[in-house]
Amino acid sequence: MAKFAFFKGEFVPIEQANVNIRTHAFNYGTGVFGGIRGYWNADARQLYLFRAHDHYRRFLHSCRMLLINLPYTAEELVRLTVELIRREEYREDCYCRPLAYKADAAIDVRLHDLADDFALFVEPFGRYIKKEEGARVMVSSWRRVDDNAIPARGKVTGAYVNSALAKSEAVLAGFDDAIVLTHEGHVSEGSAMNLFMVRDGVLITPPVTENILEGITRRTVMELARRELDLPVEVRPIDRTELYLADELFFCGTGAQVAAVIEVDHRPIGEGTMGPITRRLRALYFDVVRGNVPAYRERWCTPVW
Ligand code: PMP
Repeated sequence: MAKFAFFKGEFVPIEQANVNIRTHAFNYGTGVFGGIRGYWNADARQLYLFRAHDHYRRFLHSCRMLLINLPYTAEELVRLTVELIRREEYREDCYCRPLAYKADAAIDVRLHDLADDFALFVEPFGRYIKKEEGARVMVSSWRRVDDNAIPARGKVTGAYVNSALAKSEAVLAGFDDAIVLTHEGHVSEGSAMNLFMVRDGVLITPPVTENILEGITRRTVMELARRELDLPVEVRPIDRTELYLADELFFCGTGAQVAAVIEVDHRPIGEGTMGPITRRLRALYFDVVRGNVPAYRERWCTPVW
């Protein structure tokens, strides 16, 4: 468990990092958040934050959409995160959760003229998807939030009711997770992760205009597939029934990492086990995030120690 937090501009014991029930964001979901993994590399005795700058750039974009003004740059947020982890003395895999939110006690529903605040905690963390080697999923009856309702490309706290509805529906029905469609009926993503499909040796993922969160892991997977595995990557809309005919499917995200999907709506995907392209990408991804590939370590991994 976390022992400290960054809260109201300073490092405090986690017990002191509490908000009042009148807080605007608690009442209306008017906050944004991020999720960044730290990977412990036992050989190098180093903890690497994966693509922390990119995560904080997206975080600040989310802030912009919600008229949240923070007095920090992405670089300063990375430095604060490193400092907090040092105080925690973590030498294990962890998960960083930055939050920016409307901290006022106002009843008015609005975004402008409200006090904003920033908070951060970091916890030890393992798997998010328990069956990363083979998840069985359903297509959710819930549709993905729309850009003109709650912007899906922002990581807005209130919008995660949508993710939670999809996830619980799936798990309570006996599945591991859900795939969520847009209002038009195209594939958007998983409950809280992006999705890739393999058909005839081509890696395919929905475009950013399909109400996806613009995932950092999605970008990572596309780059690794093209550069390291020489795989063609296509970004185009995906129909629901294409999922059933896919050779391979996988989820990706900071939490999900690279997780094979082996069944959709009771139809086995490919052979009904993790496919060869998913397996290669997954192995490469774990090498990269742990800082074992020098070229990507320099670009994407921030050492804490
Ligand atoms: N979609 C949603 C809804 C998410 O919450 C996340 C983050 N967990 C993702 C996709 C994946 O984004 P990233 O790769 O940047 O973590």
